[in-house]
Amino acid sequence: MSADLKGPKRSILYLISIIAIMLILSIITLIQAFKTYMESGHMDFLALLLSASAFALSIYMALQIGVKPPKLGFEQQKVLTVIRCSRCGFESVRNFKEGDYVLKKIGSCPKCNGPSFIYTIFREEEKGKKKAGKINPIPQVKTTAPFLSM
Ligand SMILES: [Zn+2]
Repeated sequence: MSADLKGPKRSILYLISIIAIMLILSIITLIQAFKTYMESGHMDFLALLLSASAFALSIYMALQIGVKPPKLGFEQQKVLTVIRCSRCGFESVRNFKEGDYVLKKIGSCPKCNGPSFIYTIFREEEKGKKKAGKINPIPQVKTTAPFLSM
């Protein structure tokens, strides 16, 4: 299909199509088994059993993929704020609070009592899964801005 679909999304679509095919096949087999029963009075139990199990399995799979993705999406979005001292460079990290913005003055440094400010705000990625790179949406500027010491 189209290339703009990302990996996990595409695999879910793939699973959904498999589930849909399994559902359709099991329904067809079920109808076919009933037709045979109506015509000849003979019930094809094997076909009935197979279609019933395929039906149950596809519903089970649908429930599995239907439940998991939203749970993953909501739990692991944690926003953190890094507070940095403009005098000694001491950094501390705390949870993001409403009203936080980069370069906002935040009290004084616990080490040297110098003026502290919000250095960066970032969203923490899934724990454990990806620890490859630091996420820094705001470019790191090393210079101490003159207005911070005012
Ligand atoms: Zn300090």
